[in-house]
Amino acid sequence: MLVVMKETASEAEIQAVVTKLETVPSLHGQRIDGQDLVVVAAVGDTAAVEGLGLEQLGGVDRVVAISKPYKLASSEIGQQKPLHIAGRQVGGGTFTIIAGPCTVESRQQTLETAAAVKAGGADMLRGGAYKPRTSPFAFRGLGEEGLQILQEARQQTGLPIVTELVDIKNVDLVSEFADVIQIGARNMQNYALLEVAGKSGIPVLLKRGLSSTLNELLQAADYILKEGNENVMLCERGIRTFDTAMRFTLDLGSVPWLKSQTHLPVIVDPSHAAGERRYVTPLSRAAAAVGADGIIVEVHQDPSQAVCDAAQQLYAADFADFAQQIRAVAEIIQPSSPQSIS
Ligand code: PEP
Ligand code: MN
Repeated sequence: MLVVMKETASEAEIQAVVTKLETVPSLHGQRIDGQDLVVVAAVGDTAAVEGLGLEQLGGVDRVVAISKPYKLASSEIGQQKPLHIAGRQVGGGTFTIIAGPCTVESRQQTLETAAAVKAGGADMLRGGAYKPRTSPFAFRGLGEEGLQILQEARQQTGLPIVTELVDIKNVDLVSEFADVIQIGARNMQNYALLEVAGKSGIPVLLKRGLSSTLNELLQAADYILKEGNENVMLCERGIRTFDTAMRFTLDLGSVPWLKSQTHLPVIVDPSHAAGERRYVTPLSRAAAAVGADGIIVEVHQDPSQAVCDAAQQLYAADFADFAQQIRAVAEIIQPSSPQSIS
């Protein structure tokens, strides 16, 4: 259920609604600040809401049912609202390009790649210091040393850092370095991890699970949103289907569907879907054409030497040309306001 407050509602009236909801142990009141007004989402045993007489409280405009299984992520809560991350806008008509290596392998590799993607017009730098690997014997990241290297890359380029959190025990450390916490596909339904990412208050990029429905993706987003962290972007990164020609099947239909169902920005990862460099550009163009709010793409200064995902990483030397092509498509679809540079 949603308690929609009047535009004139005072802070005390909003708080009174939250307090009233919290008197029922099976209910949680989550305040959401929209563009023009505030709504309070009643999460939990919605039948209990009816007995509370919330309509009678001062400042309340109306109480409406959210019909979808996802609540805080639902567009019934509010309209698309851009996120503001370290001086950059995500969503709201801008097209965001997040680029960088699959993983931080060394200081030189990361700094060189970071400089190239910055020069080529990327908005944020990606790179994993903690890697979720299918095999426990594969390279699992440099850990804290990798985070330190990313920090240096940020100092040199000014690009905000997107980096993955794989374990709840590292949340404080990763939060010190990350501008955006990435939750990888394999952890989309790791609910404890989603909750700590939510509590961290750091913006989150939530990737769709390898075999997860969009419905499940949005309910996973609810785990982060319910902690009061409104800065969540969703990421379509390809799913398992009967077809094994590409590494995964990029579900481009997910973009317009998500955009109709949620107020959260939608980012596409063409790299992990393609698995092969040659398909990354066409899939990125398609992502921009279908209305994505941005892409997250893997780039390496020397992919032949990459310790992970070598076949799909773009050459850093090709990045500027790539980014220009994708922005040209995005411009046709949703003319963007220029990114502010911090
Ligand atoms: C990644 O972005 O480095 C990654 C591991 O992606 P995914 O979780 O989508 O497989
Ligand atoms: Mn990768």
